[in-house]
Amino acid sequence: MSEAASTSGKVLGPVIFLGAPGAGKGTQSKKFVEMYGVPQISTGDILREHVSAGTALGRQAKEIMDRGELVSDKIVCMMVETRLSQPDCDRGFILDGFPRTLEQAKWLDGVLAAKTYEGKSLAPVVVDFEVSYNQLFKRLTGRRSCPTCGRIYNVYFQPPRVPETCDIDCSKLVTRKDDSEEAISVRLKSYEEQTRPLVEYYRQQGRLHVINGEESSEAVTKQALAALEADRR
Ligand code: AMP
Repeated sequence: MSEAASTSGKVLGPVIFLGAPGAGKGTQSKKFVEMYGVPQISTGDILREHVSAGTALGRQAKEIMDRGELVSDKIVCMMVETRLSQPDCDRGFILDGFPRTLEQAKWLDGVLAAKTYEGKSLAPVVVDFEVSYNQLFKRLTGRRSCPTCGRIYNVYFQPPRVPETCDIDCSKLVTRKDDSEEAISVRLKSYEEQTRPLVEYYRQQGRLHVINGEESSEAVTKQALAALEADRR
């Protein structure tokens, strides 16, 4: 039986994908969305939607994001609260890029403690994707995405067949503004200072699964799947 067939329809509960920018959280989230039929909640994606739509929140967040700094806890928690109240989160969800600070993690603990999934109360499964600094830097500077279908490429590791062009719909690929070398340095620094402490926070809660994010995408999926299935058995 395929992985998608054996996992679809299962109650997954809350899953947190931790890891630095470029560690593969987004790519892996998309695979798990397909396998379990639950939504990926990426605070970065929600913020970028606000920026594109030109909302008040987007205008507030844009410059902060372009510099590679973190948006305020208050704004991000409010966004997550709204998103988690939607009915597609009833069987579970994958948090990608949230929480990123201790304040966000503590706030999330309170929200999750009050939530049930088809009547079951489930603690979060936390998966930490470990990738070295040099590898992250290359992954981020090489990252390109398709503005039409969202597919992600990397000019070093996973180039499109025709340079700068999406294999699927031939759109011209784009580089995120915060994937400039300067913004990447700021993003990796804010990860080290503000997000890495969460690894210890969840380890102490006994919720943490550390996986090697430098292996092939398929091997990383296997490790993450094993972590999820171990906690949800
Ligand atoms: P990402 O796509 O997850 O790398 O996020 C892009 C940018 O959105 C980050 O560099 C931050 O500026 C902002 N952002 C995303 N998630 C959060 C969060 N949980 N807390 C604060 N800022 C965030």
